[in-house]
Amino acid sequence: MAWFNQSTADWLHIDIMDGVFVPNISFGFPVLEHVARICDKPLDVHLMIVQPEKFIDEVKALGAYIMNVHYEACPHLHRVIGQIHEAGMKAGVTLNPATPVSVLEDIAADLDLVLLMSVNPGFGGQKFIPHTLKKVTALRQLLQRTGSSALIEVDGGVNLETGRLLKAAGADVLVAGSHIFSAPDPAAACKALSEL
Ligand code: ZN
Repeated sequence: MAWFNQSTADWLHIDIMDGVFVPNISFGFPVLEHVARICDKPLDVHLMIVQPEKFIDEVKALGAYIMNVHYEACPHLHRVIGQIHEAGMKAGVTLNPATPVSVLEDIAADLDLVLLMSVNPGFGGQKFIPHTLKKVTALRQLLQRTGSSALIEVDGGVNLETGRLLKAAGADVLVAGSHIFSAPDPAAACKALSEL
């Protein structure tokens, strides 16, 4: 973790999978407590789980900076966003590839961040879905129209090539997993992405 704490990464993005909302399981809070203890960067916790509102206290206890919940997992999204804010965290909403950004029209002004999935969530190392670029542009317009200052974050298949295209389209935050962690020099790969 030492290299990561000294890297150019702004946050540590954590994907929590429950084997229900997504077809895979990653890890739970006992593991994350250890990660949070040794990580100096703000935690961006992405819950790929059903009923994420049940875990607001656990995510807060990690000292998380942002709690990201899926639009598709929250029938009462407005309430959940309010609960995350009441817990003292930034609130992010994540959209799967097939979910249009227009569903955020009435909630955008309440959000700190919108996370667009550029792969179907559940597995690392997947190929970037090019349609995401159009969604970034459409989301930027929606945020401006609704007076929202939410950041645009993109997760899935991010590398130097797709990262450059996403930045040009208006993305603020890029999440990279395989591109960084399978690189011969992860810190250098991270720096190259930071400098896009
Ligand atoms: Zn994620």
